[in-house]
Amino acid sequence: MDTTAHRTTIQLLIGDDGNRAAVGELLEDRYDVLTQQPVRDADLYIVDDYTFPDHHAALRDRVEADDPVFCPVVLIRRDDRSPRVSLPDPDDHETPVLVDDIVEAPIDRSLLFRRLNTLLVRRSQSKDLRRYISQLEESNRSLEQFAYAASHDLQEPLRMVSSYLQLIEQRYEDELDDDGEEFLAYAVDGADRMRDMIDGLLEYSRVDTAGDPLEPTDLNAVLEDVLADLQVQVDERDARIDVDELPRVEGDADQLRQLFQNLLVNAIKYSGDGRPRVHVSARRNGRSWLVSVEDDGVGIDPADQERIFDVFQRLHSREERSGTGIGLALCERIVKRHDGRIWVDSEPDEGSTFTVALPLADAGETADA
Ligand code: ADP
Repeated sequence: MDTTAHRTTIQLLIGDDGNRAAVGELLEDRYDVLTQQPVRDADLYIVDDYTFPDHHAALRDRVEADDPVFCPVVLIRRDDRSPRVSLPDPDDHETPVLVDDIVEAPIDRSLLFRRLNTLLVRRSQSKDLRRYISQLEESNRSLEQFAYAASHDLQEPLRMVSSYLQLIEQRYEDELDDDGEEFLAYAVDGADRMRDMIDGLLEYSRVDTAGDPLEPTDLNAVLEDVLADLQVQVDERDARIDVDELPRVEGDADQLRQLFQNLLVNAIKYSGDGRPRVHVSARRNGRSWLVSVEDDGVGIDPADQERIFDVFQRLHSREERSGTGIGLALCERIVKRHDGRIWVDSEPDEGSTFTVALPLADAGETADA
């Protein structure tokens, strides 16, 4: 019936010679009690040490089927006779036996209720957690899908705007007065900027879905590629870029290239007036490598150091320095896909150090790496 549908179900896996009826009576007021012997769907199982061996396999399957939701098993231990099941040894690192609590017979009624209650609260909390996680995963998926669809579908009308602007430029250039030319230039600039933003957003929305599997990746090779790609910018600004010996990390080489490219582009772009100097280094910290990109540029006010990782957040105007404000957001998303972290240490006019924490390439790598 509906009124009982939400009640907690407890299954008693107690043999005929046990006190099944008595235990059942004890619980009936508060719970739905199942007394059939094959293991059914229930929120909690009470088994006694005489019948435990018979139900062990079925119970284990049932508990595993519920995983990661906690599904408790309580053992009632009767007097002195075998077979006995011992308490799990807390120092034993083997998989614990399939018992979450042991209650000695004769049962103390209030003690039993307290223990059952504790276990059932844990079960319902783990159920809630599971539900929140799936809701979050679902909303994340639909957000990704939304960002992808929006940015993808915006490309088409934007292409149309751009191509008609080009047509006006080509066909009517001679007929436009100075104002007309200026307005047209603004429109073209706006369309270009919008294209850059949409491209960035599209890339951002695809970090999780379009990436390659993570595998041991040599960061020295990654940085070599990045420097080759940035050669023109480096030469233009006469930047000096020192790269230390770098480790191998667990990663997606393409995404790591994108990550360090964005950090190096910024280190050069947000340098002061002089020759930009950038230093890329790495140090070990527990199970991670900390890879830092340090510049001697304009620096960042501590109050702004969090928001620069948000989409489209910029501290500089376009007139000062070009950009869409998506570079660091993309970096953060890539790092998160790698189970890592990114942050910046900086003071205005004192340069900035962006640090990325990335997991070690493989568990076999030890402290001497
Ligand atoms: P973009 O460079 O396109 O504006 P980013 O997301 O890469 O976008 O950076 C966001 C903002 O963070 C930049 O507009 C800039 O104000 C600031 N910033 C990023 N890197 C640095 C740096 N190395 N030094 C100083 N400011 C920086």
